[in-house]
Amino acid sequence: MTDGPTDSGTPGVPEHGKKKRAVVEPEPPARAMSIHAHPDDQEFTVGGTLAKWARAGTTIVTVCITRGTGGSNRFTPLDMTRAALGPIREAEQRNACRILGISDAWFLDYEDGMLEATIALRRDLTRLIRRFRPEAVVCGDPTVRYYGSTYLNHPDHRAAADAALDATFPSAGTRLIFPELLAEGLEPHEVRQVYIHGAERADTYVDIAGTMDVKLAALREHRSQMGEWDPKDFLVEWAREQGLRAGLEAAESYRRMVLEGP
Ligand SMILES: [Zn+2]
Repeated sequence: MTDGPTDSGTPGVPEHGKKKRAVVEPEPPARAMSIHAHPDDQEFTVGGTLAKWARAGTTIVTVCITRGTGGSNRFTPLDMTRAALGPIREAEQRNACRILGISDAWFLDYEDGMLEATIALRRDLTRLIRRFRPEAVVCGDPTVRYYGSTYLNHPDHRAAADAALDATFPSAGTRLIFPELLAEGLEPHEVRQVYIHGAERADTYVDIAGTMDVKLAALREHRSQMGEWDPKDFLVEWAREQGLRAGLEAAESYRRMVLEGP
């Protein structure tokens, strides 16, 4: 288990002057599943971690719940349709996965902009978790409604994270939840770790200095969403902010859950 450097100490006693404790980065999991709402969510948030893990030998599966057919207000041409945009964004996501070192990407075809954490979605994610049997699931934080005072967390992000966590526990590991999956030959599977990005209480930091260039290259594959915008400065600054508490130059930060078996 990794503890955040400010989790220790006596309540009420100022921390300044105290040396920061080194944060131990967990070993990469053997198998990981990254679950997000839209093409590009993964690259913005956890691309550096996944690239690092892939290079260390982790088998990774990407699950994209929608095809991102809502597009972007800034860069989607006015004559673009949802039907035309879907295949473009799927191809961009597959290219991004290839750059990160992920060979497997699944698209669930839910509607962009209208995602809800339904039982049907929970069942679909449970099916994939049981099929691929990941040691770790990587997803967002469904409890965060606001980031700072400039970004309302996208409802699809909250719904995707909610469904991912509920599929991880208890659905994936409980035999008699979704018994129809047993009929498909999918036995229960217990996920051991959950890496939650965008969490307000991060406790785990992955050093991405060595994979920042890969993260950037993967993100740039989402051309239909970027236009002429170069995401480099934004990503570098964000990684710097996330690394501050851990004394790292560039990091992706998480709340990490280590789930105990029954
Ligand atoms: Zn998104």
